[in-house]
Amino acid sequence: MKTKFEVKILNAITTNKLTKVYKDNKVVDEVSLTINKGDIYGLIGKNGAGKTTLLRMLTGVAKPTSGSFTIYDDELEMPHEEALKRIGSLIDFPSYDPSMTAYENMKFIALSLGIDNDDRLKKLLQCVSLDPEDKKKAKNFSLGMKQRLSIAMALVGNPKILILDEPVNGMDPTGIFEIRELLMDLNRKCGVTILISSHLLAELTKMATCYGIMSNGKLVREIRGEELNEMSRPFIKVVVDDIKKAVPILAQTFTNANDFQILPGNTIHIFKEDETISHIEDTFNMGGVKVTEVAKCDGNLEEQLISMLGGPKSHDEIF
Ligand code: ADP
Repeated sequence: MKTKFEVKILNAITTNKLTKVYKDNKVVDEVSLTINKGDIYGLIGKNGAGKTTLLRMLTGVAKPTSGSFTIYDDELEMPHEEALKRIGSLIDFPSYDPSMTAYENMKFIALSLGIDNDDRLKKLLQCVSLDPEDKKKAKNFSLGMKQRLSIAMALVGNPKILILDEPVNGMDPTGIFEIRELLMDLNRKCGVTILISSHLLAELTKMATCYGIMSNGKLVREIRGEELNEMSRPFIKVVVDDIKKAVPILAQTFTNANDFQILPGNTIHIFKEDETISHIEDTFNMGGVKVTEVAKCDGNLEEQLISMLGGPKSHDEIF
């Protein structure tokens, strides 16, 4: 039973076994994820993993086949349709009318949401470095301008959550930088929670506070930014001829399971800073395992994410 002193931990979005089936194809398969308020949540996965379909369900564009989700429901105690209004999204690009100017597009969205505040619309455009007085039609904008307009349009309803599907796709480095600065400002200064899918992993690591990794419709892993940082420490990469024989040696040598990670391709990453290449070679050789490659590597968040997309093998799989 709830008491008035109960402290609630509020989530921006939670999904419970959310599933979408197209014909016989389960494109989103029982996804249960948690996005905390204030997170920048990076959704990653190979093409066809189901990211866009998941985002479309969360924005009410696609109907889940089964499962459920909540959006700020605990806090707002709103009906679900009302909760959906708390979301601004950029998914099925382009969202603007190409025959209208930036300001006209903003005005159109504002009218459809029943918002009458011209000053705010102008400020939002300035916020994304677009000129509210510009008479140029959206169809003549550069790709970066089109993306920035779409983001400004997603912000008209003053959303608490912004859902963006590949917002910097095809943009040049300057445009990507500007979008990143804008999103981080919205997150830090206005407290907007952001769910963003992107295949530009290095870019994502510059802003995400949490990651969800999708593969074949399933959420295979959720990882906090701090945990990823921890895993992306400098390491020694070792490739061996026989991974099954190598694992017991690893387990005996490194008592802490966080000191090593087993990856596809008979590859092992060893994270112990005081470890030396010669000691590792000697240890494996003595156990009858041949080391075919060994090298010291810098920690790299992007590489770590890529290895997760490939799916590090679990110890169970190897035994
Ligand atoms: P991602 O965004 O990760 O690339 P998508 O969600 O776009 O993945 O697609 C996941 C799978 O669902 C793909 O195989 C795609 O062909 C299929 N899919 C997406 N939308 C539809 C649809 N409307 N009808 C049938 N299949 C679809």
